Amino acid sequence: MLLIDSHCHLDDARFDSDRVEVLQRARRAGVEQIVVPAVSSRGWVKLKNLAELDSRIYPAFGLHPWFCDQHREDDLQRLPGFLDGAVAVGECGLDAGLCDVDMQLQLHWLRAQLKMALSYDLPVIVHAYKAVDVVIREIRCYPGLRGVVHSFSGSLQQAEQLIDLGFYLGFGGSVTHARATRLQAVVKAVAAERLLLETDAPDQPPAGRRGERNEPAFLIDILAHIATLRSTDSQALAATCNHNARELFRL
Ligand SMILES: [Zn+2]
Repeated sequence: MLLIDSHCHLDDARFDSDRVEVLQRARRAGVEQIVVPAVSSRGWVKLKNLAELDSRIYPAFGLHPWFCDQHREDDLQRLPGFLDGAVAVGECGLDAGLCDVDMQLQLHWLRAQLKMALSYDLPVIVHAYKAVDVVIREIRCYPGLRGVVHSFSGSLQQAEQLIDLGFYLGFGGSVTHARATRLQAVVKAVAAERLLLETDAPDQPPAGRRGERNEPAFLIDILAHIATLRSTDSQALAATCNHNARELFRL
């Protein structure tokens, strides 16, 4: 079975010592295409080089809200230079729970990247944590914008609003945990045509891997969980999610 990991930080330093082995395990698990979004300009050259070395890595370049202290205005001038060969702009977004960066500052970087994605005809990879309504409001300001809200953590109503805007929703390890009943109800109910599978490795390991470093090979655990939740066959779900990822990222 062939799988696409639609969100994996394979460029993270936590993979520096054994990235080759991680990629071998991914291949054995059937994970043949991996979308890797950068989080700050400090990592852009490293990611570009990694993608040039391994054809399974599909890079995206952007400025993540957690790292606003590293972002510089000059990054917005440099970003277009990285977009040739990129599958998306991102990771960008808003986070009102896991970091305490000023929301106006986060909005500044988000808006610049939404605008850039639209003008370069690329999708955006959006991080939205405890800020889904604001993210929806911002996306509405850019008609025609395509993208994914990764590691979706909102309500079914918010999911449907994003789907109406033409967005996809990424689901990963967090849906596999026994206590995530609300999120499981969402992943069960959303249209299959808008689902993407992701690991968000090295973070967010699936249930049964708690405390371990997450890696793309674990995508099969996530697929199995979501297939069970949706009472569908893993192979059929994988085929749909692969199709969705190829559509969005033009893989
Ligand atoms: Zn991420």
